[in-house]
Amino acid sequence: MQTLEKKKIIILGAGFAGIFTAINLSRRFKKRPDIEITLVDGNRYHLFKPMLHEVATGSVDPTHIIQPIRTVARGRNFSFIEGFVQRIDLKNKKILICSECASCTKVKDMNLDEFDISGKIFKPLKRKKLDYDYLVLAVGGQPNFYKIPGVQDFALPLYSLEDAVKIREHVSRAFEIADHLEDPEIRKRVLTFVVAGAGPTGIEFITELHDWIFHTLIGNFENIRKEDPHLTLVEAGHDILPFSAENIRRDARKTLDEMKIEIMVDSPVLGLEKKHVEIGGQNPRRVDTSTLVWAAGVKSNELLDDLDLEKDRIGRVKVDEYLSVLNHPGVYAIGDCAAFQAKGHDYPLPQTGQVAVQEAACLVKNIVHDIEGKAKKPFRYRDMGSMVSLGERSAVSNIFGFIGLSGLLGWLSWKLIYLRHLIGIHRKARVILEWFFDITYDREASRHKFG
Ligand SMILES: Cc1cc2nc3c(=O)[nH]c(=O)nc-3n(C[C@H](O)[C@H](O)[C@H](O)COP(=O)(O)OP(=O)(O)OC[C@H]3O[C@@H](n4cnc5c(N)ncnc54)[C@H](O)[C@@H]3O)c2cc1C
Repeated sequence: MQTLEKKKIIILGAGFAGIFTAINLSRRFKKRPDIEITLVDGNRYHLFKPMLHEVATGSVDPTHIIQPIRTVARGRNFSFIEGFVQRIDLKNKKILICSECASCTKVKDMNLDEFDISGKIFKPLKRKKLDYDYLVLAVGGQPNFYKIPGVQDFALPLYSLEDAVKIREHVSRAFEIADHLEDPEIRKRVLTFVVAGAGPTGIEFITELHDWIFHTLIGNFENIRKEDPHLTLVEAGHDILPFSAENIRRDARKTLDEMKIEIMVDSPVLGLEKKHVEIGGQNPRRVDTSTLVWAAGVKSNELLDDLDLEKDRIGRVKVDEYLSVLNHPGVYAIGDCAAFQAKGHDYPLPQTGQVAVQEAACLVKNIVHDIEGKAKKPFRYRDMGSMVSLGERSAVSNIFGFIGLSGLLGWLSWKLIYLRHLIGIHRKARVILEWFFDITYDREASRHKFG
């Protein structure tokens, strides 16, 4: 019997870029047994990052912004491998994946003591080698700490689900501790929360944090008064939200002022220790705090550092107009790990979900066209506008660059656009319910760990 010669498409990363590529490719190649599509990710779930700040401030449950990838793959024409990509061999078209490894962080995080199990009895290291005809690099990015002393060690980045849960626990714990503190200096430090980075992530987080603290947490602690917590936003650039439309910047500034959030622009973080952050600029200052949330930048995934490819200054792989990696036919890069720069533009597109999803849609067409021997289509980015949430039931948006909405209307449009990209009907339903409860009841005030 003759075996079917299959074309293998491997997609690395199941974030926005990777998962939408897999879903749409599987649709396009539904009736093609000669095409094999494999999606690989270190996590077994797809994470909806735009709602991380809501998890970090107790308004959305962590499990509601993730979707198991195997559930997404069920009934679709792609397979999923849970495993960390360790090496990409572009010359021989091979990918090395580690899927079970007793020494990997995943096993370490499993709290083996609770089950009286030693790490040594785990299955031996299992590596998989996959070969490909088409490769899609969609491994995203990671927080950029710019090698500032102490930041990697002591700051709390807001990037992964674990980060968001950690921030939520840390802030709750700060209140629990402060409630029992007598020393006014220490109390002030514990209740001072600094956020670095006044881009959309920093602004969305600090305004939600404000509402969580002042609308929920305060009421749960007998000895903490409204005047005690202090929130500061520090930004190295000249203004908040530097890449947003004027109406968004104006409304955000007004909201931050009303919330009495201290804004420090032209104020780069120079160093961080456990008890204080050193801030530079024209008015250098030391702020006593035990909480610095890091929302000050993202770079490309370090996994790609060793690859001999053209990259931009934050390590993103440069791609041409068809999203192909330069000089490597059959290899594509999209999303946060790719640098696509349109003709006549000074910078590559930003690292946003909107860019990742549009790139995925174009890439699917190009892979299909390539396999069918048709001409590829150049990628054209369509800016659908931007929006920033400003705490409970308020957001400001600029849709298609000219429809400006703010307050409750802005918030509703922001929520609707988010819902569109949440995968799975029941996920959408759960999140809608949570938003409803958030409006009608207090949000989460306690930590996961009790006692
Ligand atoms: C807090 C926050 C809020 C945001 N809010 C918005 C917003 O409101 N609007 C917006 O448009 N954008 C927003 N963004 C940006 C947006 O989330 C990203 O641009 C988008 O997720 C990029 O998609 P991606 O698929 O390229 O990367 P990612 O979503 O980062 O996915 C990469 C995937 O690769 C996997 N991976 C990485 N390394 C390996 C490896 N070695 N082996 C196997 N798998 C690996 C990861 O597990 C992950 O699943 C936000 C980002 C953050 C952090």
